[in-house]
Amino acid sequence: MADFVALAKKYENELIENRRWLHQHPEVGMDLPETMEFIRGKLIEMGYEPKSCLGQDLYVEIGSGRKKASDGEPRCILYRADVDALPIKEESGLPYAAKGENGHLCGHDIHGAVALTVAKMLMEHRDEIDGIVKIVFQPGEEQSNGAERMVEQGIMKNPKVHASMAMHVRPNAENGQIRYALGPAAAAIDFFDVYFHGVTAHSSMPEKAKDPLLAAANTYQAFDGLVRREISAFNSAVLAVGILKAGTAPNSIPLDAEMHGTLRSYSNDDQKHLRDRMREIVKAQAQMAQVEGRIDFVWTPVIMNDAELCRQLSGSFAKVIGGENIVIEEKPVASSDDFAFFGMDVPAMLFWYGVGSPEGHAIHHPQVVMKEDKLYLAAAAIATAITDWMNM
Ligand SMILES: [Zn+2]
Ligand SMILES: [Zn+2]
Repeated sequence: MADFVALAKKYENELIENRRWLHQHPEVGMDLPETMEFIRGKLIEMGYEPKSCLGQDLYVEIGSGRKKASDGEPRCILYRADVDALPIKEESGLPYAAKGENGHLCGHDIHGAVALTVAKMLMEHRDEIDGIVKIVFQPGEEQSNGAERMVEQGIMKNPKVHASMAMHVRPNAENGQIRYALGPAAAAIDFFDVYFHGVTAHSSMPEKAKDPLLAAANTYQAFDGLVRREISAFNSAVLAVGILKAGTAPNSIPLDAEMHGTLRSYSNDDQKHLRDRMREIVKAQAQMAQVEGRIDFVWTPVIMNDAELCRQLSGSFAKVIGGENIVIEEKPVASSDDFAFFGMDVPAMLFWYGVGSPEGHAIHHPQVVMKEDKLYLAAAAIATAITDWMNM
């Protein structure tokens, strides 16, 4: 069995160099030309043949595929690294800070660099990989649901994926610590947009108008009661409207009304129930006010960490970083991550890797600083876990 700690230590300088290169080239959204070209070049150097689902992403596969899962297909694990940045200016003051308006303030530069080191080590030890590993470099995590699009384009098939894993750095956790929650690990989120379209008229002639604002106001009230009345006291969800707009003049019944907000929940059932009910409410209120109504959702499911997969992978992590450096969280985080799409139909694990200290800034803060001296251990832990999982 390979000693991935020693090997990762050997490649530590390269890992940090790659990380800093990515850090200084932050790109946002689905289109990351420099980032993907850099990663592609490194993968080709290692001997991989990078592929793409969308033309904007990259993934590689490695392993003999001899080991079969219970369905007769080669046992296959997907390891996701998201590599997009944020449209937020970095103010860390670091000598290698990014210039310009974008910054790697969510640590996806580290995700990319660690995944490259994992890829390099697995290539050196490919004889020991009896199943198949898919290493995914995903664009568009922050805003564009890149994961959903990759899943739509078949990343979970050919070969079929049996488990998914991802690391996310956490700069406000102890350096070198692994943390994860069992069950819900990160919230499901829905961004929703409600539109009502009526008939405008002078406000002295309400009989000539169909008022979309009435539908919007009643919808707001009905939404407000949904979580309170229809979600179990033991579950939690938050439905919040951030924008409600209608009309331009005080003495005219508006033509249009719109409402925008977010829904956060921690179970797929709650998410589906609330979304279905919101659709019903919009339809009913539109009917009541005799206007046209519509609601659209852009959504990310909840990340459900699978207990068995967590037990298996964290057993391997413990061999590398020590069991005392692994913490099981009591609660999920209220933020979301579109890694959830890679875990919709297979066991999944998202874990947090500490790259700072509890007092540090959290991700997305312009002054966030992430430590680099234990990143090689993250790469070693992931490579060890993947190799062990193949042989379970
Ligand atoms: Zn982020
Ligand atoms: Zn992130």
